[in-house]
Amino acid sequence: MKIARVIVDVPAFQTDRPFDYEIPEKFEHMIEKGMRVIVPFGPRKVMGFVLEVADQTDLKHLKPIDDVMDLTPVLTGELIELGKWIREQTLSFHITAYQVMLPQALKAKYEKELECLALEEELSDELKPLFAGRSVIPFAEIQEKQIPYRKVQEAIKDGLVEVHYIVKSKETRKKSTWVKPAKDLHQLEEALEDFSPAAKKQRAIVEFFIEHKDAIPLKQLLDTLHTTRQTVQQLMKKGLLQTFKKDEYRDPYNNREFIQTKPKELTGEQKQAIKPIEESIVNEKHDVFLLHGVTGSGKTEIYLQTIEKVLKKGKEAIVLVPEIALTPQMVQRFKSRFGADVAVMHSGLSPGEKLDEWRKIQRQEVKVVVGARSAIFAPFQNLGIIIIDEEHESSYKQEDNPKYHARDVAVFRGQYHRCPVVLGSATPALETYARAKKGVYRLLTLSRRINNQSMPEVEIVDMREELHRGNRSMFSRSLQEKIQERLSRKEQIVLFLNRRGYSTFVICRDCGHTLQCPHCDISLTYHRKQERLKCHYCSYEIPMPGRCPECYSDTIRYFGTGTQKVEEALQLTFPEARIIRMDVDTTRNKGAHERLLAEFGHRRADILLGTQMIAKGLDFEHVTLVGVLAADSMLHLPDFRSAEKTFQLLTQVSGRAGRHELPGEVLIQTYTPEHYTVELASKYDYEQFFYKEMQIRKKFQYPPYYYLALITVSHPNQIYTIEVAQRMAKMLNSRLSGQSKVLGPTPSPLLRIKDRYRYQCMVKYKVESKLQMTIKRILQVYEEDMQKNDLQIVVDFQPYHLM
Ligand code: ADP
Ligand code: ZN
Ligand code: ZN
Repeated sequence: MKIARVIVDVPAFQTDRPFDYEIPEKFEHMIEKGMRVIVPFGPRKVMGFVLEVADQTDLKHLKPIDDVMDLTPVLTGELIELGKWIREQTLSFHITAYQVMLPQALKAKYEKELECLALEEELSDELKPLFAGRSVIPFAEIQEKQIPYRKVQEAIKDGLVEVHYIVKSKETRKKSTWVKPAKDLHQLEEALEDFSPAAKKQRAIVEFFIEHKDAIPLKQLLDTLHTTRQTVQQLMKKGLLQTFKKDEYRDPYNNREFIQTKPKELTGEQKQAIKPIEESIVNEKHDVFLLHGVTGSGKTEIYLQTIEKVLKKGKEAIVLVPEIALTPQMVQRFKSRFGADVAVMHSGLSPGEKLDEWRKIQRQEVKVVVGARSAIFAPFQNLGIIIIDEEHESSYKQEDNPKYHARDVAVFRGQYHRCPVVLGSATPALETYARAKKGVYRLLTLSRRINNQSMPEVEIVDMREELHRGNRSMFSRSLQEKIQERLSRKEQIVLFLNRRGYSTFVICRDCGHTLQCPHCDISLTYHRKQERLKCHYCSYEIPMPGRCPECYSDTIRYFGTGTQKVEEALQLTFPEARIIRMDVDTTRNKGAHERLLAEFGHRRADILLGTQMIAKGLDFEHVTLVGVLAADSMLHLPDFRSAEKTFQLLTQVSGRAGRHELPGEVLIQTYTPEHYTVELASKYDYEQFFYKEMQIRKKFQYPPYYYLALITVSHPNQIYTIEVAQRMAKMLNSRLSGQSKVLGPTPSPLLRIKDRYRYQCMVKYKVESKLQMTIKRILQVYEEDMQKNDLQIVVDFQPYHLM
């Protein structure tokens, strides 16, 4: 009798291990590891992953497997091992680790059908009655007609039949309504004369189309003209307008011809950088490379040429790009070099389309995948290289369970396949650069831009000085002048403000002093109710001072403005300017992000004002001024990475100006111009920044010198939350070695989210063999409360968001 070891879809501690099931005769020789099956579990039937097929078991009574879900494994042997590793590393469940590797659509309910690709004569005798003259049949008929799955599976392997997954229509793309004129221009003009003078709203719409002619989304038309659906409908009745449906999301890849591009003759620097990577490919040796080079230094060209080497060896490549940078231009560069060999995975695809791309990889129809974080799990079996562009991006860390980092997964897979992993960035994560300096990663440097173009000039404006000169507005005189200049020259401006709302630190506007925790070197957070300042890492707190402890000025106060307020002030200062605001509020609807950017790109606005979502991937020809309104609001987030994140952001933002013919300028407003981050970012001096920041990390015991684990407890009842957090801290303190430091419990920087109170403990450690065990123990102690009493305990190793 054959046994299957199955991980069941019941995410809980007691069930987080393989269960043995009998493989019934009808499934014998067909069930393989990596397939999904349906098994009885208690009173229920659940999905499970087969991890292993064995001959023996210690158990006497086995239940049989109920049904199979796949005829081809969805997990390779490598991915099965990877899942076990992710579980260990992140303290998640097996089932969660496996689910995250598969496209969403495979998790949802879907139907399958079987298509016959061959002539009926070619099919085996068992299969002939199944199709009975039809070319496509519902998958369920196999079971109904009692055809052995094994026979079907053989036919699949021989390429005679194929399984299709039909994703339910709920998941198809969203469409939106567009409006366009139904008549030509002079007919519209004629119609205009027939309108009664009272029909003002109708006239406005017709006039709009006389001027613009093009189709426009209905919603946008209504917004722009402050008009109603009824008015549009009246015009449709008159035969002047018509509507049509259009896919809402960008669809840049299909039906597009890609002009084949040839490899470029590499520069001397590029040749030096590519050589070690190519050696690693040829020698089938795993190495991690850090490719450090400013934007435009030719990193992508190196990616392309190394991939070409890999493909020549008959192997495959994964390229990760941050979601937000996964633009049509980016994809085009890969498609135009490698054509149909490329699959693309990004969040703009519907679940059905994502599944299609994944299936192309599974069936080995493509050789390269370009995608966001989850593409790291592409089920290739012969990987030759993994590339992570903009490796410092925090979006490579998954924030939900399992909280894995794509970089770590890349290294696991690179070791498994004995192939190189290339991390590329202009501003590498400190952890990465430190590893490269130590020789754990191999450092490759591109120090110049390809055409020797210089980076834009950066001006730093001291906002304290502005105040002293009586300018109380949020725009410095210099910025106002520069904006005015651009407006009169019809050039465009990008203004950048840090994320909305989260501004809870205090700063002295007179001298720029901020209040920091003396133990943790992070900004203290202002708690309005108690009028106190608290550290969110340790438990340090002080009353809110009335005057600045440095200069005794009374201008010390809490800092920050929302984008909406800035927009109002901006409009008041520049009444003639057309402004587009981009933040979480204006981009909530799907497609809004792209639409606003496209509007700006078509120069329907002069100023783009936004949060960090506008920092990346923007490339507009007519932008000649980039302004950072308040560098301090990033610099003083209560996060030990705030300086690093600010440096990355300022560098990135600066890269937005003057990328084309017109020279660009950057202006940074700050109350702390002497801060090394602002100063060094304005000089594009990563190396110096690295050394300064490393000193601080060392002194205050942060990564890369120490590892971190963040444990957050949350519950609707505050007292209970504090109790659990305290007991947790006690357990950590008593069980961990003396070398590790347990900070907290403290309230999380965002104390309350969705009516749940949040408290946290942070562990700083170097080598701590008991950490996993201790945390597991804590989770076990509270398992029942988590299941029945709405308690949540979230563990995050190497956290990125300490909120
Ligand atoms: P990065 O990825 O570092 O931003 P890219 O690879 O995109 O840099 O290169 C910037 C520009 O220079 C691109 O337009 C690219 O096509 C071009 N380029 C890159 N390498 C070369 C080369 N060796 N010769 C000529 N042009 C190149
Ligand atoms: Zn002061
Ligand atoms: Zn502290």
